[in-house]
Amino acid sequence: AETALLQAQKVQAMGQLAGGIAHDFNNVLQAVSGGAILIRRRAGDAAAVERLAGMVEDAARRGEAVTRRLLAFSRREELRADALDLGELLGGLREVLAATLGAKIRVEVDAEAGLPPVLADRGQLETVLVNLATNARDAMPDGGTVVFSAAAERAEDAAAAAPDGLGPGGYVRVMVADTGEGMDAATLARATEPFFTTKPLGQGTGLGLAMARGFAEGSGGTLAIASEPGRGTRVSLWLPIVVDGDARRLREAPLEPPVER
Ligand code: ADP
Repeated sequence: AETALLQAQKVQAMGQLAGGIAHDFNNVLQAVSGGAILIRRRAGDAAAVERLAGMVEDAARRGEAVTRRLLAFSRREELRADALDLGELLGGLREVLAATLGAKIRVEVDAEAGLPPVLADRGQLETVLVNLATNARDAMPDGGTVVFSAAAERAEDAAAAAPDGLGPGGYVRVMVADTGEGMDAATLARATEPFFTTKPLGQGTGLGLAMARGFAEGSGGTLAIASEPGRGTRVSLWLPIVVDGDARRLREAPLEPPVER
């Protein structure tokens, strides 16, 4: 059974998603209706009609791409709880991350020894890490370094570093740090918004960071981004350390945020 809080979080995420979709669709519809008006005006000019019809077709294709992204987002799996050893997970994913980043980029994996297990969905976390690696690659066309690290943090440190208040208990901070082009303040402010992207059409979905944030918050943790233009970007996820009462829930129920325990 779904908790009221989880339900509320989903509704909030869908609301944000709907806002992004509405915005993108509005742009598409404006291009289509503008194109129709221009075609009527230039009806006698075959070359102009041809060009304008092409513009309308392009806009319709953008509309289809928006729909596809919405479908992909709604098929997202439920989060399942796993007790994860992040040192083992990062070690196991190293080759996939290196392949994602390509030969020009150096990969470092730096997991603290003896990390306590965290409560999170393994498949989702792996997907998030690959998405973050893709972003790092896109930000470093001339190469650079990406460090994937995991370290236990006291709750106070996590709360001080994270923008929103966190529940009691400890967290492991997973960080992906690149030496890429970074983000300006306006991009950083919107980076985790669903469908926000600065990449050319067809290259970015604008969902990578939105899903990373949804994953962190759905796991009872949080996400924060630090970035400096020309220097690089650090994306941090705080994931809750497994506590005694979690054991029986593992693999049985969707995650609940720690405040409900
Ligand atoms: P996408 O990568 O499909 O654009 P994301 O949600 O992952 O969607 O990222 C949104 C935007 O945030 C990107 O278009 C880019 O402008 C910025 N961004 C994300 N990660 C990085 C990074 N590591 N370095 C610089 N900019 C980034």
